[in-house]
Amino acid sequence: MARMAKPLKERLLARVRVEHDGCWTWTGSCAGSGYGHLCVDGKWRGTHRISYEVHVGPIPAGLVIDHLCRNTLCCNPYHLEAVTHQENMRRAVRLTKAQRMQIWLDAQ
Ligand SMILES: [Zn+2]
Repeated sequence: MARMAKPLKERLLARVRVEHDGCWTWTGSCAGSGYGHLCVDGKWRGTHRISYEVHVGPIPAGLVIDHLCRNTLCCNPYHLEAVTHQENMRRAVRLTKAQRMQIWLDAQ
């Protein structure tokens, strides 16, 4: 009989700490890049990508997940957006967390 694995969403949320500013900080293991990661079917996957997939849906081909809050450990789907790599790089230039949050608020 196959081992029943915990649903991915449950595994993710079990290690998330909700911050006062709304970020869901990943408290589990981290990749060297500063992103949280979780082992799924024998492969390490970014927790922000997993969170996007379980809460929002499949990540469109060729897109990366951008953190609107700049907290690379954040898994709050409302702080995540699928964008092109180019757009992600453009946004990463010189924006403070406060500025990023304003962009996010403006988009609501
Ligand atoms: Zn966040």
